[in-house]
Amino acid sequence: MLGAIEAGGTKFVCAVGDELGGIGERIQIPTTIPEETIPRVIAFFSKHGVEAIGIGSFGPIDVNLDSETYGSITSTPKPGWRGYPFVQEIRKALGVPVGFNTDVNAAALGEATFGAAKGLDSCLYITVGTGIGAGAVVQGKLLQGLSHPEMGHILVRRHPEDHYKGKCPYHSDCLEGLAAGPAIEERWGAKGIELVSREEVWDLEGYYIAQALMQYILILSPKKIILGGGVMNQKQVFSYFQKYLQELLNDYVALPRLSDYIVSPGLGDDAGIIGSLLLARNAIQE
Ligand code: ADP
Ligand code: ZN
Repeated sequence: MLGAIEAGGTKFVCAVGDELGGIGERIQIPTTIPEETIPRVIAFFSKHGVEAIGIGSFGPIDVNLDSETYGSITSTPKPGWRGYPFVQEIRKALGVPVGFNTDVNAAALGEATFGAAKGLDSCLYITVGTGIGAGAVVQGKLLQGLSHPEMGHILVRRHPEDHYKGKCPYHSDCLEGLAAGPAIEERWGAKGIELVSREEVWDLEGYYIAQALMQYILILSPKKIILGGGVMNQKQVFSYFQKYLQELLNDYVALPRLSDYIVSPGLGDDAGIIGSLLLARNAIQE
Protein backbone atom coordinates (compact mmCIF):
# COMPACT_ATOMS: atom_id res chain seq x y z
CA MET A 1 0.00 0.00 0.00
CA LEU A 2 1.22 3.45 -0.98
CA GLY A 3 0.34 6.86 0.39
CA ALA A 4 -0.25 10.03 -1.61
CA ILE A 5 -0.48 13.64 -0.53
CA GLU A 6 -1.73 16.33 -2.88
CA ALA A 7 -0.73 19.43 -0.96
CA GLY A 8 -2.64 22.46 -2.18
CA GLY A 9 -2.89 26.01 -0.98
CA THR A 10 -6.43 25.56 0.32
CA LYS A 11 -6.60 21.85 1.06
CA PHE A 12 -4.52 18.72 1.40
CA VAL A 13 -5.88 15.53 -0.16
CA CYS A 14 -4.43 12.38 1.42
CA ALA A 15 -5.10 8.96 -0.01
CA VAL A 16 -3.90 5.40 0.08
CA GLY A 17 -3.71 3.33 -3.06
CA ASP A 18 -1.58 1.15 -5.27
CA GLU A 19 0.95 1.57 -8.05
CA LEU A 20 -1.70 0.89 -10.68
CA GLY A 21 -3.41 4.13 -9.72
CA GLY A 22 -6.16 2.47 -7.69
CA ILE A 23 -7.28 4.67 -4.82
CA GLY A 24 -8.62 3.43 -1.50
CA GLU A 25 -9.57 5.66 1.41
CA ARG A 26 -9.03 9.38 1.03
CA ILE A 27 -9.51 12.45 3.20
CA GLN A 28 -9.32 16.20 2.83
CA ILE A 29 -7.64 18.44 5.36
CA PRO A 30 -7.75 22.25 5.20
CA THR A 31 -4.37 23.93 4.66
CA THR A 32 -3.93 26.17 7.68
CA ILE A 33 -0.52 26.18 9.36
CA PRO A 34 1.87 23.19 9.29
CA GLU A 35 1.47 22.60 13.04
CA GLU A 36 -2.23 21.95 12.50
CA THR A 37 -2.32 20.37 9.05
CA ILE A 38 0.64 17.98 9.21
CA PRO A 39 -0.31 16.09 12.42
CA ARG A 40 -3.65 15.24 10.78
CA VAL A 41 -1.84 14.01 7.67
CA ILE A 42 0.44 11.84 9.80
CA ALA A 43 -2.47 10.45 11.81
CA PHE A 44 -4.20 9.36 8.59
CA PHE A 45 -1.19 7.48 7.25
CA SER A 46 -0.20 6.00 10.64
CA LYS A 47 -3.58 4.32 10.72
CA HIS A 48 -3.01 2.72 7.30
CA GLY A 49 0.65 1.67 7.49
CA VAL A 50 1.98 2.64 4.06
CA GLU A 51 5.24 1.51 2.43
CA ALA A 52 6.08 4.91 0.96
CA ILE A 53 4.59 8.36 0.56
CA GLY A 54 4.47 10.54 -2.54
CA ILE A 55 3.92 14.27 -2.18
CA GLY A 56 2.75 16.53 -5.00
CA SER A 57 3.05 19.95 -3.43
CA PHE A 58 2.20 23.56 -4.09
CA GLY A 59 5.40 25.49 -4.63
CA PRO A 60 7.91 26.72 -5.13
CA ILE A 61 9.67 23.80 -3.46
CA ASP A 62 13.23 22.55 -3.22
CA VAL A 63 13.49 19.41 -5.37
CA ASN A 64 17.26 19.41 -5.74
CA LEU A 65 18.52 16.22 -4.08
CA ASP A 66 21.95 17.78 -3.48
CA SER A 67 20.54 20.77 -1.65
CA GLU A 68 20.69 21.12 2.13
CA THR A 69 17.08 22.24 2.12
CA TYR A 70 15.84 19.47 -0.21
CA GLY A 71 12.22 18.64 0.51
CA SER A 72 11.20 22.02 1.84
CA ILE A 73 8.78 24.66 0.62
CA THR A 74 10.69 27.76 -0.42
CA SER A 75 9.20 31.18 -1.14
CA THR A 76 5.45 30.87 -0.50
CA PRO A 77 3.55 33.79 1.01
CA LYS A 78 1.40 31.25 2.91
CA PRO A 79 1.87 31.84 6.66
CA GLY A 80 4.02 29.19 8.34
CA TRP A 81 4.96 27.26 5.20
CA ARG A 82 7.94 29.24 4.02
CA GLY A 83 11.01 27.07 4.60
CA TYR A 84 8.90 24.23 6.01
CA PRO A 85 10.88 20.94 5.83
CA PHE A 86 8.00 18.91 4.41
CA VAL A 87 9.82 15.70 3.38
CA GLN A 88 11.92 15.62 6.51
CA GLU A 89 8.90 15.89 8.80
CA ILE A 90 6.92 13.20 6.98
CA ARG A 91 9.89 10.85 6.83
CA LYS A 92 10.65 11.39 10.52
CA ALA A 93 7.07 10.68 11.56
CA LEU A 94 6.35 7.70 9.30
CA GLY A 95 9.81 6.23 8.67
CA VAL A 96 9.19 5.37 5.01
CA PRO A 97 10.68 6.60 1.69
CA VAL A 98 9.15 9.89 0.55
CA GLY A 99 8.88 11.09 -3.06
CA PHE A 100 8.53 14.82 -3.54
CA ASN A 101 7.65 16.97 -6.50
CA THR A 102 5.34 19.78 -7.53
CA ASP A 103 1.59 19.23 -7.73
CA VAL A 104 1.68 19.83 -11.47
CA ASN A 105 4.62 17.48 -12.04
CA ALA A 106 2.71 14.81 -10.12
CA ALA A 107 -0.33 15.43 -12.32
CA ALA A 108 1.81 15.27 -15.48
CA LEU A 109 3.20 11.92 -14.32
CA GLY A 110 -0.31 10.64 -13.56
CA GLU A 111 -1.62 11.71 -16.97
CA ALA A 112 1.41 10.26 -18.79
CA THR A 113 1.02 6.92 -17.01
CA PHE A 114 -2.75 6.39 -16.85
CA GLY A 115 -4.48 9.43 -18.35
CA ALA A 116 -4.78 11.44 -21.54
CA ALA A 117 -1.08 10.98 -22.40
CA LYS A 118 -0.95 7.28 -21.51
CA GLY A 119 1.80 5.52 -23.40
CA LEU A 120 3.50 8.75 -24.47
CA ASP A 121 7.00 9.60 -23.27
CA SER A 122 6.23 13.30 -23.39
CA CYS A 123 3.43 15.55 -22.21
CA LEU A 124 2.69 18.86 -20.57
CA TYR A 125 0.14 19.28 -17.79
CA ILE A 126 -1.09 22.82 -17.11
CA THR A 127 -3.42 23.93 -14.36
CA VAL A 128 -5.31 27.21 -14.43
CA GLY A 129 -6.83 27.67 -11.00
CA THR A 130 -5.85 29.82 -8.03
CA GLY A 131 -2.48 29.99 -9.73
CA ILE A 132 -1.10 28.78 -13.03
CA GLY A 133 1.52 26.07 -13.13
CA ALA A 134 2.73 23.37 -15.45
CA GLY A 135 4.64 20.13 -15.20
CA ALA A 136 6.30 18.32 -18.05
CA VAL A 137 7.32 14.78 -18.85
CA VAL A 138 10.21 14.83 -21.31
CA GLN A 139 11.72 11.60 -22.67
CA GLY A 140 9.82 9.68 -20.01
CA LYS A 141 11.04 11.74 -17.05
CA LEU A 142 9.79 14.75 -15.14
CA LEU A 143 11.54 17.84 -16.40
CA GLN A 144 13.91 19.26 -13.82
CA GLY A 145 16.94 21.50 -14.03
CA LEU A 146 18.30 23.73 -11.32
CA SER A 147 14.86 23.31 -9.81
CA HIS A 148 11.37 22.62 -11.17
CA PRO A 149 10.01 24.81 -13.98
CA GLU A 150 7.70 27.72 -13.12
CA MET A 151 5.82 28.02 -16.38
CA GLY A 152 2.88 29.97 -14.97
CA HIS A 153 4.99 33.08 -14.55
CA ILE A 154 6.04 33.62 -18.16
CA LEU A 155 5.45 37.00 -19.73
CA VAL A 156 2.69 37.44 -22.27
CA ARG A 157 1.74 40.23 -24.65
CA ARG A 158 -1.07 42.26 -23.22
CA HIS A 159 -4.37 42.59 -25.02
CA PRO A 160 -4.47 46.22 -26.21
CA GLU A 161 -7.79 46.77 -24.45
CA ASP A 162 -6.90 45.02 -21.19
CA HIS A 163 -5.90 47.63 -18.62
CA TYR A 164 -6.13 45.36 -15.59
CA LYS A 165 -2.91 45.76 -13.58
CA GLY A 166 -2.38 42.06 -12.87
CA LYS A 167 -2.37 40.04 -9.67
CA CYS A 168 0.97 38.24 -9.37
CA PRO A 169 2.67 39.44 -6.16
CA TYR A 170 6.06 38.99 -7.83
CA HIS A 171 5.51 40.14 -11.44
CA SER A 172 2.07 41.79 -11.58
CA ASP A 173 1.14 41.01 -15.17
CA CYS A 174 2.80 37.68 -15.89
CA LEU A 175 0.54 34.90 -17.24
CA GLU A 176 -0.67 33.94 -13.75
CA GLY A 177 -1.18 37.60 -12.87
CA LEU A 178 -3.45 38.09 -15.88
CA ALA A 179 -5.19 34.76 -16.36
CA ALA A 180 -5.50 32.75 -13.12
CA GLY A 181 -8.85 32.56 -11.30
CA PRO A 182 -8.17 35.44 -8.86
CA ALA A 183 -7.15 37.73 -11.76
CA ILE A 184 -10.39 36.96 -13.59
CA GLU A 185 -12.32 37.68 -10.41
CA GLU A 186 -10.59 40.99 -9.73
CA ARG A 187 -10.66 42.22 -13.34
CA TRP A 188 -14.35 41.49 -13.91
CA GLY A 189 -15.61 41.94 -10.34
CA ALA A 190 -17.15 38.48 -10.03
CA LYS A 191 -16.01 34.86 -9.68
CA GLY A 192 -15.42 32.86 -12.86
CA ILE A 193 -18.41 30.68 -12.17
CA GLU A 194 -20.65 33.79 -12.15
CA LEU A 195 -19.26 35.01 -15.48
CA VAL A 196 -20.22 32.00 -17.57
CA SER A 197 -22.35 33.96 -20.06
CA ARG A 198 -19.85 36.83 -20.53
CA GLU A 199 -18.14 35.88 -23.81
CA GLU A 200 -15.53 38.67 -23.53
CA VAL A 201 -14.21 37.09 -20.30
CA TRP A 202 -13.44 33.75 -21.96
CA ASP A 203 -12.25 35.33 -25.18
CA LEU A 204 -9.62 37.29 -23.23
CA GLU A 205 -8.75 34.19 -21.22
CA GLY A 206 -8.23 32.30 -24.48
CA TYR A 207 -6.07 35.15 -25.77
CA TYR A 208 -3.60 34.74 -22.90
CA ILE A 209 -3.72 30.94 -22.68
CA ALA A 210 -2.98 30.70 -26.43
CA GLN A 211 0.20 32.73 -26.02
CA ALA A 212 1.38 30.48 -23.21
CA LEU A 213 0.57 27.36 -25.23
CA MET A 214 2.49 28.73 -28.20
CA GLN A 215 5.60 29.22 -26.09
CA TYR A 216 5.35 25.85 -24.40
CA ILE A 217 4.91 24.16 -27.79
CA LEU A 218 7.85 26.00 -29.32
CA ILE A 219 10.18 25.27 -26.42
CA LEU A 220 9.17 21.77 -25.29
CA SER A 221 7.36 20.30 -28.27
CA PRO A 222 5.20 18.10 -26.03
CA LYS A 223 3.39 15.16 -27.62
CA LYS A 224 0.20 16.00 -25.71
CA ILE A 225 -0.99 18.97 -23.69
CA ILE A 226 -3.42 18.56 -20.82
CA LEU A 227 -5.24 21.58 -19.43
CA GLY A 228 -6.81 21.26 -16.00
CA GLY A 229 -7.70 23.43 -13.02
CA GLY A 230 -10.94 25.12 -11.99
CA VAL A 231 -10.94 27.83 -14.66
CA MET A 232 -10.64 25.24 -17.43
CA ASN A 233 -14.06 23.93 -16.48
CA GLN A 234 -15.19 26.78 -18.74
CA LYS A 235 -15.00 24.73 -21.90
CA GLN A 236 -15.69 27.74 -24.13
CA VAL A 237 -12.09 28.82 -23.42
CA PHE A 238 -10.94 25.86 -25.53
CA SER A 239 -12.46 27.24 -28.73
CA TYR A 240 -11.05 30.72 -28.06
CA PHE A 241 -7.49 29.56 -27.41
CA GLN A 242 -7.65 27.22 -30.39
CA LYS A 243 -8.53 30.18 -32.62
CA TYR A 244 -5.79 32.44 -31.21
CA LEU A 245 -3.19 29.66 -31.18
CA GLN A 246 -3.93 28.85 -34.81
CA GLU A 247 -3.34 32.52 -35.68
CA LEU A 248 -0.18 32.82 -33.60
CA LEU A 249 1.48 29.64 -34.87
CA ASN A 250 0.44 30.46 -38.41
CA ASP A 251 1.11 26.86 -39.53
CA TYR A 252 4.79 27.16 -38.67
CA VAL A 253 4.90 23.85 -36.79
CA ALA A 254 3.01 20.73 -37.75
CA LEU A 255 0.61 19.72 -34.99
CA PRO A 256 -2.19 17.21 -34.60
CA ARG A 257 -5.72 18.62 -34.70
CA LEU A 258 -5.80 21.06 -31.78
CA SER A 259 -8.91 19.48 -30.26
CA ASP A 260 -7.02 16.15 -30.08
CA TYR A 261 -3.72 17.68 -29.06
CA ILE A 262 -4.81 19.96 -26.20
CA VAL A 263 -7.29 18.18 -23.97
CA SER A 264 -8.84 17.99 -20.50
CA PRO A 265 -7.29 15.61 -17.94
CA GLY A 266 -8.05 11.95 -18.64
CA LEU A 267 -7.98 11.33 -14.87
CA GLY A 268 -10.24 14.31 -14.12
CA ASP A 269 -9.60 15.73 -10.68
CA ASP A 270 -7.54 12.67 -9.69
CA ALA A 271 -4.48 13.39 -11.87
CA GLY A 272 -2.55 14.93 -8.96
CA ILE A 273 -3.34 12.32 -6.34
CA ILE A 274 -2.71 9.39 -8.72
CA GLY A 275 0.55 11.03 -9.81
CA SER A 276 1.51 11.33 -6.15
CA LEU A 277 1.01 7.57 -5.73
CA LEU A 278 3.49 7.15 -8.58
CA LEU A 279 5.95 9.45 -6.80
CA ALA A 280 5.65 7.09 -3.82
CA ARG A 281 6.30 4.07 -6.03
CA ASN A 282 9.33 5.81 -7.55
CA ALA A 283 10.64 6.65 -4.07
CA ILE A 284 10.76 2.92 -3.23
CA GLN A 285 12.58 2.14 -6.47
CA GLU A 286 15.11 4.89 -5.89
P1 ADP B 1 -6.78 25.29 -6.69
O1 ADP B 1 -6.06 26.06 -7.72
O2 ADP B 1 -6.86 26.02 -5.38
O3 ADP B 1 -6.31 23.88 -6.54
P2 ADP B 1 -9.01 25.24 -8.54
O4 ADP B 1 -8.23 24.60 -9.60
O5 ADP B 1 -10.43 24.83 -8.36
O6 ADP B 1 -8.31 25.15 -7.13
O7 ADP B 1 -8.97 26.80 -8.85
C1 ADP B 1 -9.71 27.73 -8.13
C2 ADP B 1 -9.94 28.94 -9.01
O8 ADP B 1 -10.66 28.55 -10.17
C3 ADP B 1 -10.76 30.02 -8.33
O9 ADP B 1 -10.24 31.29 -8.69
C4 ADP B 1 -12.15 29.81 -8.91
O10 ADP B 1 -12.89 31.03 -8.99
C5 ADP B 1 -11.88 29.27 -10.28
N1 ADP B 1 -12.91 28.31 -10.70
C6 ADP B 1 -13.22 27.15 -10.07
N2 ADP B 1 -14.22 26.53 -10.72
C7 ADP B 1 -14.55 27.31 -11.77
C8 ADP B 1 -15.52 27.21 -12.82
N3 ADP B 1 -16.35 26.16 -12.91
N4 ADP B 1 -15.55 28.20 -13.73
C9 ADP B 1 -14.71 29.24 -13.65
N5 ADP B 1 -13.80 29.40 -12.69
C10 ADP B 1 -13.71 28.45 -11.76
ZN1 ZN C 1 4.28 35.93 -11.69
